Amino acid sequence: MLPVEYAGNETLNETLEDIEREIKNCRKCELWKTKTNYVPGEGNEKARVFLIGEAPGREEDRQGRPFVGNAGKLLNELLSSIGLSRKDVFIGNVLKCRPPNNRDPTPEEVEACSPYLVRQLNVVRPDIIVCLGRHSSSFVFSLFELPFRGITKERGNIRKVKAWGKDVYIIPVYHPAAALYRPQLRDVLFEDFRKVGNVLRNLKGDGKNSSGNTTLSDYGFV
Ligand code: URA
Repeated sequence: MLPVEYAGNETLNETLEDIEREIKNCRKCELWKTKTNYVPGEGNEKARVFLIGEAPGREEDRQGRPFVGNAGKLLNELLSSIGLSRKDVFIGNVLKCRPPNNRDPTPEEVEACSPYLVRQLNVVRPDIIVCLGRHSSSFVFSLFELPFRGITKERGNIRKVKAWGKDVYIIPVYHPAAALYRPQLRDVLFEDFRKVGNVLRNLKGDGKNSSGNTTLSDYGFV
């Protein structure tokens, strides 16, 4: 596994566009043969919040954009519930090509493709990483050398790590697609996104922490 910060010279001053250009020529695994479009990810280069999904689905593959199907509609609602829109955040995936029939990514595909995501993280240097679902959470936890006990146990628990010389908050949540199939998860997702909003407000210095009243446990730290 690559460390999140690695100093390959070629990555030092790169932009999201540089990475996108490489992704669009990628043949590091076999998925380029069956995809319609690469889905590099999109959003704000200066985003404080970086959301990570698993892999493009059918609609994402068709449009070349992340989270534009039904799960994406719910993601837009979740963002809006905490006062954010897609232009405020960066949305990426562990895999940049759709696995046929939306099957799970293989370990080899994750190994081949995930360096692009790590490089995107290194450009954006977010304060908050929201892991959408179990695959994304498991990848990000191993990236930061955190033990992963499964999404049901980890969701909503905020982890604080050091990266890019600052505190970075990792917040695993259920995948929005899961809430489409199991509506009872919907409320849990909104509740977990509220935590994202709380951490973000606090980082911006306009949360109640300025009065010294908020403790880490208010944010669900474990
Ligand atoms: N599910 C994902 O994990 N990513 C997308 O981009 C769309 C659906």
